[in-house]
Amino acid sequence: MKIEVDTHTHTILTGHAFSTIIENVQIAKKVGLKGLCLTDHGPSRPDSPSIEYFKMLASRYLPDEIEGIKIFTGCEMNIISEDGDVDLPLNIYKNLDFNIIAFHNQTPYSSNSKGKNTKSMINTLKKENINGIAHPGDPYFPYPIDLEDVIKAASDYDKAVELNNNVLKRGEYWINYYKEMLNLCLKYKVKIFISSDAHLAYYIGEFIDAIRLLDEFDSNIKELVINKNIEDFEKFIKKI
Ligand SMILES: [Zn+2]
Ligand SMILES: [Zn+2]
Repeated sequence: MKIEVDTHTHTILTGHAFSTIIENVQIAKKVGLKGLCLTDHGPSRPDSPSIEYFKMLASRYLPDEIEGIKIFTGCEMNIISEDGDVDLPLNIYKNLDFNIIAFHNQTPYSSNSKGKNTKSMINTLKKENINGIAHPGDPYFPYPIDLEDVIKAASDYDKAVELNNNVLKRGEYWINYYKEMLNLCLKYKVKIFISSDAHLAYYIGEFIDAIRLLDEFDSNIKELVINKNIEDFEKFIKKI
């Protein structure tokens, strides 16, 4: 299966990533992608771009295409409260193309209650201009969720969930976690976006572990993938 848009990537504006937008674009071109989402971390983390950066993105300062690669602006926003608040104001993120939400450490959010985390994530999903969840319930972060409740909510609000190649590279435990998630996506017909979550240009467009995992499922799971081609991806983000 071919993937035309890398939906979750980082640049050097995220303090723990290593490459510039231009370097990421050059690799995207080399590996045959058509589009790239810029999803640096939301500003509540100390190693994230400033709010001024997101204002510039939202003002459409960047060209729509760089070296033939379509640029989708966005943010990997942090969930910061039980009400589902995120760390960018709506008047900024509503002008970005692809907004994903997640729990991360080093943010104002703090709770190890599964019930509270689930509620917080669902409250965020309900909001307009939120397109999907990055690494839902990733056990790497100390914020457990009820995965089935979250996937059900993604179905109710027509939001997508991520199959994150970077997480899959960690091995068996993570592969099994994502298998469970994919089974729930099939059950509730939830859309999936495949991403590299690259923090270095050389990992842009790396989807091999995600595709290998999808190949273990019935072929109809591929119908749920929104970034197989750029047209389907654009259709998905514009509808929200
Ligand atoms: Zn993340
Ligand atoms: Zn990320």
